[in-house]
Amino acid sequence: MTIDRSLDSLDPRFYLKAIEFLARLTEAKIYVMVIETGRTWKRQEHLLEMGASQTKRSKHLSGEAIDLAPILQYKNGRVLQLEWSADAQLYKRMGEIASQIGGIRWGGDFKSFKDLVHFELE
Ligand SMILES: [Zn+2]
Repeated sequence: MTIDRSLDSLDPRFYLKAIEFLARLTEAKIYVMVIETGRTWKRQEHLLEMGASQTKRSKHLSGEAIDLAPILQYKNGRVLQLEWSADAQLYKRMGEIASQIGGIRWGGDFKSFKDLVHFELE
């Protein structure tokens, strides 16, 4: 099952916010890798079975969400290490930058299921 990382899969209403978010992250010297954008229902079912998602109404299904992970190590065009740590300051800064744009909800602010890599249209 392929994972969709294309920005073209984003809903037009979310696309421009995602582009601005990526630009602001670069400005803040936070370099990220796109982990996932759009998602098929088949993949959502798979994630539910694995316990990696807890919703049947993920905004990835409508192209209104993007998952981003900070790059810790990068060499010769290859990502060597991503930040996955749940208490990483980098994610908190990403959440703050997202809130400055407005209209983006960060998964780290979710009440039940904290999803640090997740940013979606509000
Ligand atoms: Zn997500």
